[in-house]
Amino acid sequence: MEQQRNIAILGSTGSIGRQTLDIVAEYPQLFKAHLLVAHTSADLLIEQALRFMPRVVIIASESHYDKVRAALSHLPIEVRTGSHAIAEAVVDPLIDTVVTAMVGYSGLESTIAAIKAGKRIALANKETLVVAGELIEQLLATSPSKLYPVDSEHGAFYQCLMGERRDDVAKLILTASGGPFRTTPREQLETMRAADALKHPNWSMGAKITIDSATMMNKGFEMIEARWLFGIAPRDIEIVVHPQSIVHSMVEFVDGSVKAQLGLPDMHLPIRFALGLPEGRLRSDCRKMTIDDYANLTFERPDMDKFPLLRTAYDAAAVGGTAPCTMNAANEIAVAAFLHDKIGFNDIYRIIERTLTRVPVIQHPTYNDFVATNEEARRIAVSLID
Ligand code: MG
Repeated sequence: MEQQRNIAILGSTGSIGRQTLDIVAEYPQLFKAHLLVAHTSADLLIEQALRFMPRVVIIASESHYDKVRAALSHLPIEVRTGSHAIAEAVVDPLIDTVVTAMVGYSGLESTIAAIKAGKRIALANKETLVVAGELIEQLLATSPSKLYPVDSEHGAFYQCLMGERRDDVAKLILTASGGPFRTTPREQLETMRAADALKHPNWSMGAKITIDSATMMNKGFEMIEARWLFGIAPRDIEIVVHPQSIVHSMVEFVDGSVKAQLGLPDMHLPIRFALGLPEGRLRSDCRKMTIDDYANLTFERPDMDKFPLLRTAYDAAAVGGTAPCTMNAANEIAVAAFLHDKIGFNDIYRIIERTLTRVPVIQHPTYNDFVATNEEARRIAVSLID
């Protein structure tokens, strides 16, 4: 990398955002935080701004604007707010890399703006591709913008596919930790609460993705994400449970060879890899894997009856159009309700399935079709809870 890169981090106060700033701090000669965006976490955003001195910060929630502005008023940092401020800010010609680390559907508008502006995108917001993969693919076809995956599994696919021809790929093997309820008997799932799910064994993640991991909706999302990132049909993407989270994913080729990418379950690794692209790997003093980490690796088939949202994801991917958008919207509403102990664990699946039967599917949707479908699906999912 010949010159310092200006980075925008959308969602800098979340789990991925904070770990991205760790990488920025690890390579001060390579990266500069130019734009930091948070939704409501004003105190942490202020702390990050004081440490990293970005040119611009955005606190999306307007009720926190005065506090952030006052705290940074003595510094040459511009403070902005409002729902469209992010999409406006990412097109800044000084920004060359946009890390999309916001949660859920809310990442779509700004990711589209960044693609249209030709930015390098380190994609952590998988919901963007779940909701609107077809549209994103079309936009990328006419833009110099490139998407680099931050998700560890997709970083693994990317590494396994380096130097390979697309026609030689037989199958993607997507590994899953199995989540916090992997060994919980199926009949006990009904009584599980958010607090039970939030003790994830391997990965340190935000609350929403931890619940998605518990239902395995996250793995369904990642299957759809892989489909769009690598152009592989869902029927050629197999999900395998690997509780140790050391093999981050594998690719099988037409000659029967299989390549796997291994590493410690630490999100700093895939973030460091994504930020090094396209030039190459960044040297690091991080802890390296030892035989104790990989001496006992096990693999098992996922239980589709216990985690039926895996099947829902394959079905929604097969229907296509706005079906995955509806699935995502219903999931966001149901997960929020589960986090507030308003519904039980298995209700997440029931709400998603019922919402899918009620929202009409639009094939070859436009951006406005996604916006309308997202709103309608949310409204119906909310009505199923209250
Ligand atoms: Mg992942």
